[in-house]
Amino acid sequence: MRKRERKRHTHTHTHTRVLFLITMYASCSAARINITSPSSSPSAVAFTRTFNKSNKAPSPLKQKRTIQTLSTSIIKTTRASSTSDKMSSSQTTKTIGFLGAGIMAVPMALNLLNNGKHNLIVWNRTASACDPLVKAGATLAKTAQEVCEKADVTYVMVSTPEATLEVANLAKDGISDNKGYVDCSTVDRHTAKKVSDIITSKGGRYLEGPVSGSKAPAENGQLIFLCAGSESLFKEINADDANQLNQMGKASFFLGEEVGAGANMKLIVNSCMGSIMASFAESIALCEDANLSKQDLLDVLSLGAINVPMFGMKGPGMIASDKSTKFAPAFPLKHQQKDMRLAVQLADELGRELPVAATANEMYKRARRDGHDDEDFAAVLHAVRRE
Ligand code: NAP
Repeated sequence: MRKRERKRHTHTHTHTRVLFLITMYASCSAARINITSPSSSPSAVAFTRTFNKSNKAPSPLKQKRTIQTLSTSIIKTTRASSTSDKMSSSQTTKTIGFLGAGIMAVPMALNLLNNGKHNLIVWNRTASACDPLVKAGATLAKTAQEVCEKADVTYVMVSTPEATLEVANLAKDGISDNKGYVDCSTVDRHTAKKVSDIITSKGGRYLEGPVSGSKAPAENGQLIFLCAGSESLFKEINADDANQLNQMGKASFFLGEEVGAGANMKLIVNSCMGSIMASFAESIALCEDANLSKQDLLDVLSLGAINVPMFGMKGPGMIASDKSTKFAPAFPLKHQQKDMRLAVQLADELGRELPVAATANEMYKRARRDGHDDEDFAAVLHAVRRE
């Protein structure tokens, strides 16, 4: 490992390992990245970077890339493409479907509509939530089945494992040979497998594609896709004339053909994020008890090696809050708790103890019990404050 990389690596807290790897992908300037991951030991992950000629890192906002793992290989390569790729005149008009119209689905679908030359057909359980998409030029379908019948590829972004299964069952009769179905909802691997079975039994191709990134990255086309399932579908939606994942995100990982790898990676990332947020909330509450300036806490954190962008984004609102504050949702607390529960369940199934995440899960459960379901997950602060 090069000296500079080794230095960055050792400065990284072990609990942020997965986030670190993803951040490294998002921020490095390489047109090609090779990751060598010895299958024997995940803790022995080694990585190398190949710099482009200028050896300068362009803004991650401008650099779009696909990170692809060949299913039988441990090499991941990236393809750089620019914003101008999005508007390539070689794009063909395809019909894309979108099922769901929540906090994430609406900006994701808008990016597909605005950045590509696609026709978009949408459906949501509550039809009125599709209004912003219809205003932007999408067609509203009467049923989820109609969306799949008319679309070449249908994306799904709904709340829970139960919802994603329900939607797959509503949509399945619209699936026929070779149609694509990309479910981006955060679910467990068993649900992903059930949805995959439903879609492939109808002749369709299934890709799980949960995303890392919240409301703002969804709006800015900066999501990170964690895909597994049909490799041909993954390649197709990343092809230059489709470019769909690039229109919604800044990086796409293909984690293999075994469905569930995407769900697992997403839950691991989110249990890390949820644990960090719970710990951050505790630190703010402790600062209050100790009569210390919470702004000083943010400043100290921002200058040190344990700084994470989330502190800067959520911190000012959290330190300004009191017990009457309702945190406007970017990532609803009920979904964060769902992800903690599913991560703890995954660890349970794999025989791994997960004491930090399990304790954080209890804090989110307490916040849910106290009525903070639909607030941002920063509202976990209410569960630790003396109120
Ligand atoms: P959201 O705003 O709560 O939207 C949920 C969507 O699911 C709505 O379209 C809702 O339809 C639909 N839905 C719920 N139950 C349903 C059912 N039984 N049948 C059909 N549709 C149903 O959620 P979100 O924040 O966009 O999150 C969506 C998914 O992305 C979740 O899995 C979440 O964990 C994940 N995620 C969220 C974020 C984030 O920051 N928000 C980031 C990454 C991943 P109605 O309008 O009819 O209720």
